[in-house]
Amino acid sequence: MQANDLAEIRLAVRQLCAQYGEDYWLELDRNNGYPTDFVEELTKSGFLGILIPEEYGGAGLGVVEAAAVMEEVCRSGAHAGVCHAQMYVMGSVLRHGSEQQKRAYLPKIAKGELRLQSFGVTEPTTGTDTLSLKTTAVKKGDVYVVNGQKVWISRIQHSDLMLLLARTTPLDQIAKKTDGLSTFIVDVKQAEGSGLEIRPIESMINHHSCELFFDDLEVPAENIIGEEGQGFRVILDGMNAERILIAAECVGDGRYFVDKAAAYARERVVFNRPIGQNQGVQFPIARAYADIEAAALMVEHAARLFDAGENCGAEANIAKMLASEASWRAGDICMQTHGGFAFAKEYHIERKFRETRLYQIAPISTNLILSYVAERVLNLPRSY
Ligand SMILES: Cc1cc2nc3c(=O)[nH]c(=O)nc-3n(C[C@H](O)[C@H](O)[C@H](O)COP(=O)(O)OP(=O)(O)OC[C@H]3O[C@@H](n4cnc5c(N)ncnc54)[C@H](O)[C@@H]3O)c2cc1C
Repeated sequence: MQANDLAEIRLAVRQLCAQYGEDYWLELDRNNGYPTDFVEELTKSGFLGILIPEEYGGAGLGVVEAAAVMEEVCRSGAHAGVCHAQMYVMGSVLRHGSEQQKRAYLPKIAKGELRLQSFGVTEPTTGTDTLSLKTTAVKKGDVYVVNGQKVWISRIQHSDLMLLLARTTPLDQIAKKTDGLSTFIVDVKQAEGSGLEIRPIESMINHHSCELFFDDLEVPAENIIGEEGQGFRVILDGMNAERILIAAECVGDGRYFVDKAAAYARERVVFNRPIGQNQGVQFPIARAYADIEAAALMVEHAARLFDAGENCGAEANIAKMLASEASWRAGDICMQTHGGFAFAKEYHIERKFRETRLYQIAPISTNLILSYVAERVLNLPRSY
């Protein structure tokens, strides 16, 4: 990748996305299709490997630049959820993997020869309470034997590798709740049919999410990332990056909605005047714009802290909350501005509206962020 100035990166991503118009995304949405060619091009152009250090074949840039990529993808009308995980899942391998693991995976991920798009954390019975997860990985000789179930694991059918979080020490035998979990790289193609069953979930958006069933799946012991029992720490850093990148996607969605609403309000004439001449139509769009711009500042602040290696848990969470709420409101205003036409699929708004709704729930819901801020930042009593 040549472009390393932020404005150049944005322009190059915009140009790449322009080749995949909104009809491309609409067609995929209709058919539950996966944008293989788009993701390949984003990878080959170096944007998806932007966070991979140069010594492993990536661009060696930071979350500030990665966030700009994701924002522009969403602003173009695309759905970045088809590939965003590759950016932040890779971080766990980079920060906690052995040198041998980094050499084995990162250059191939940067080139697009290996796809690490899948992150297996959520379980049906424990949900947000990650530290209580029940999928077990028991060491037997030179393998770990995995049993259990995961839900909503996205893109696994379009990924070669999955980062899996599983319990290696029973909950009642650990000193701290954050101990006892371990992180593994799973070779999806090898695992499927040999202890891993994948069942797609029919869902509101085209996010390629699946249920996973593990029945004595054997994962080579050498595939553990970091130390046994320390898996929660392995994924924690990646979670802050995930929140910042998804917040940037929401900023992109929000700007998409505001641009679209303003353009339509300028052109649509009813009662012999553009609807945008009515302040009842103008003001909500102006407010949506202001909300998105404020959220964008928080996203940038969190990204800069992350890149500086500073603690950014609060900022990453707050950025995700503010941006996801602002993009949803902007989507609602865009719908309202378009009147009945908002419901026509060819206008693309309803698809983006569905897609941006996800981010108030995943990867972490708004309530859990408020709880984090209340208890960790404001020192209010713990509720759970
Ligand atoms: C399309 C999609 C894609 C996803 N992709 C992935 C993926 O790739 N990998 C992965 O691991 N997971 C993935 N997820 C899962 C996602 O991270 C979870 O759905 C999310 O974290 C919420 O967990 P839950 O659904 O179990 O909700 P629950 O934990 O059951 O919570 C339900 C509701 O109760 C609220 N709640 C729960 N506890 C409290 C509390 N103590 N105080 C206040 N409110 C509370 C929550 O805020 C939420 O609104 C995906 C989900 C979706 C829908």
